[in-house]
Amino acid sequence: MGKITGFMEYERKVDPYAPVEERLKNYKEFTKPLSEKAMKEQGARCMDCGIPFCHSGCPLGNLIPDFNDAVYRGKWDKAAEILHATNNFPEFTGRLCPAPCEEACVLGINEDPVSIENIEKHIAETAFAKGWVVATPPETRTGKKVAVVGSGPAGLAAAQQLNRAGHLVTVFERDEKPGGLLRYGIPDFKMEKHVIDRRLEILEEEGIEFRCGVHVGKDVAATDLQSDYDAILLCGGATVRRPLPIPGADLDGVVQAMDFLGQNNRRVDGIPFKGKELSAKGKNVIVIGGGDTGSDCIGTSFRQGAKSVSNFEILGKPPAGRPEDQPWPFWPMRLRTSSSHKEGAERYFSISTKEFKGDGDGKLTGLVTVEVEWEKVPGQRPKLVELKGTEKEWPCDLALLALGFTGSEMSIADQLGLELDPRTNIKASVSDYQTNVPGVFAAGDQRRGQSLIVWAISEGRQAAHHVDSYLMGSSELPLKGEGDLPRI
Ligand SMILES: Cc1cc2nc3c(=O)[nH]c(=O)nc-3n(C[C@H](O)[C@H](O)[C@H](O)COP(=O)(O)OP(=O)(O)OC[C@H]3O[C@@H](n4cnc5c(N)ncnc54)[C@H](O)[C@@H]3O)c2cc1C
Ligand code: SF4
Repeated sequence: MGKITGFMEYERKVDPYAPVEERLKNYKEFTKPLSEKAMKEQGARCMDCGIPFCHSGCPLGNLIPDFNDAVYRGKWDKAAEILHATNNFPEFTGRLCPAPCEEACVLGINEDPVSIENIEKHIAETAFAKGWVVATPPETRTGKKVAVVGSGPAGLAAAQQLNRAGHLVTVFERDEKPGGLLRYGIPDFKMEKHVIDRRLEILEEEGIEFRCGVHVGKDVAATDLQSDYDAILLCGGATVRRPLPIPGADLDGVVQAMDFLGQNNRRVDGIPFKGKELSAKGKNVIVIGGGDTGSDCIGTSFRQGAKSVSNFEILGKPPAGRPEDQPWPFWPMRLRTSSSHKEGAERYFSISTKEFKGDGDGKLTGLVTVEVEWEKVPGQRPKLVELKGTEKEWPCDLALLALGFTGSEMSIADQLGLELDPRTNIKASVSDYQTNVPGVFAAGDQRRGQSLIVWAISEGRQAAHHVDSYLMGSSELPLKGEGDLPRI
């Protein structure tokens, strides 16, 4: 284990943030890395518990106490090997994961948990800086061809695993560049895009082919992929956006969050974008929806020069601490405050938007809300009740709809005759990730619905194992938590 008394000697620390005034000047990441000495101390806080609950908290089954110990001992190469054994892209999760492992950390029962996510980022960055992350193409090829549709974290993880098994992998991506929501959803201030590019270079060097600007189901029929490839893995994400069908929703100034974020990420990257220019500059912005997407809209609006930014959430304000009915080591629904929230947004909970108001010329000028309560009905979902007399009108020139996603797009499913689950995701069981059509598999948000990067990587790895088994009769690709060959 790390240092036996480490958890008593050292306090939890994570990379500090640059001050708000400084970080709002650009779209760059704004964390200032802790020193190596400080990181070793953070690794030393791990107690190497008999039953490491953090393992089961992590959807990848990352071998957390092992890499913490290696960091404490300054064996960064060993730490990188351990980490990459279960996680293809720790540089993504080390920056962006909400770290369910930390909620399951035993130290977290009565102290601050080990700063696992931050340690992960430092290991990944050290590995890249030292040149340890290199392409390791397979020694032999199987002659089998696999088409992966979608290049988000699920598609990329699956592609790397399938390529390692020796299959020829082509990744189809309709966007200009690979990365999925990592590139065209999540803003650069959370993860600069060169972090994706350096990983893509390695994947290409390993032999994975990327075909960007190809929309499967439109530019290429999904049935053509069936004839040209031995297996298809669908990792197209949960891309259908939830609308807000209230009066005034078609006014100029009511914008889907993904249009706003996707455009800004393209602007930062210096690549042309389609559609009308969207900007928060000088505007009263209201972001409707309190999740990750909403938070990213807040940070982007501030960087664009918004006059004010408010954030509405229809659910009630969660408690600051762990609720009693969500005990350790489970993921608790408690108040989370992102770096973007801290940049000056006003947050409102238990509030529902009823109507958008215009200037008579089609332009948004405000919106009307009502306060709500969630009534508990035994045996049923809580019921939304509007509180009489609480209507309020707010000035607003830009309303960003960050209401989540309702499931998978249908074109490929229709062309291949795929079954859907009740939430309009592609139906495929976690036992083998196979759809109702033999040889067609699904993983990531397109299978499980909108979720997290860590789950997408985990599903991509699991699905790759099952695709490999389908093609070869068995597979040596690791399943969750098993780790694979110690390659980086
Ligand atoms: C704004 C935003 C912020 C987020 N922030 C976080 C965060 O901080 N931490 C976190 O853990 N999670 C976050 N998430 C969730 C996370 O990004 C997703 O769960 C994850 O990216 C899903 O990965 P995926 O590979 O399944 O799909 P995606 O990342 O959605 O990738 C799917 C890809 O498939 C492509 N595609 C779809 N259909 C086709 C087709 N027919 N032909 C060709 N290509 C196709 C799409 O263009 C896309 O590139 C965020 C989500 C959003 C929207
Ligand atoms: S991937 Fe996420 S859950 Fe897993 S160890 Fe890293 S931070 Fe924790």
